[in-house]
Amino acid sequence: MDHLQINSSRLAIVIVLLFGDLFIGVGHVMASGISLRPPYDGQYPLTSFFDHYYPNYSSTDGVVIYDGENVNSCSPHCYQGHSGYDWSMTEGTPIYATSSGTVEITRFNLTEGYGNYIVINHSGGFRTLYAHLRANTPFNVSVGEEVNQGELIGWSGNTGNSSGAHLHFGVYRGTFSSNEVNTTDPFGWRGNYPDPLLGFGSGHTAPVCGEAMIPIRSPVQIR
Ligand SMILES: [Zn+2]
Repeated sequence: MDHLQINSSRLAIVIVLLFGDLFIGVGHVMASGISLRPPYDGQYPLTSFFDHYYPNYSSTDGVVIYDGENVNSCSPHCYQGHSGYDWSMTEGTPIYATSSGTVEITRFNLTEGYGNYIVINHSGGFRTLYAHLRANTPFNVSVGEEVNQGELIGWSGNTGNSSGAHLHFGVYRGTFSSNEVNTTDPFGWRGNYPDPLLGFGSGHTAPVCGEAMIPIRSPVQIR
């Protein structure tokens, strides 16, 4: 499961997350990190990776994923500057808190940006974002509420800047920002060279990715 297998049809990549034994043998979670479970039960197709190359949607030379590979040619399944993970899932799929924390934001907006979304504030200053939740009854929590890991927080949908039903999941080291500041990769960094995010400075903090949190063990497989 730690290997990427890529066939010749890069434009028809099917990406499947296999979460079955994710939490066995996690050996790299440091004390300052948080431990995450998937934001859903079961398996859903991953449609967009987190881009380590530049976390603000600007046009660069490629999309660099968690293992260091440049997968620019995988468009449209991943795109430049994407600061989270997208999984395709039918509207109304239950979404769970990936770690315990306090609900910081429940935003209701049907048409713009992340649409209806939830932000949870976790220990150590990490935040998680669950975006594009469904239009009707998107939230099962309210601001200020304490949630446990695995607690039902809402339901997936297709609100905001979204072209199909999916969940956008993001992790922030620091405050949540809709302009992508503080984003970090929940799968960490496994490239055999320094994480490109480290070079982008305070304006695009995307900080120390992979050093302090690798909460989910290498779960991505491309076939
Ligand atoms: Zn997304």
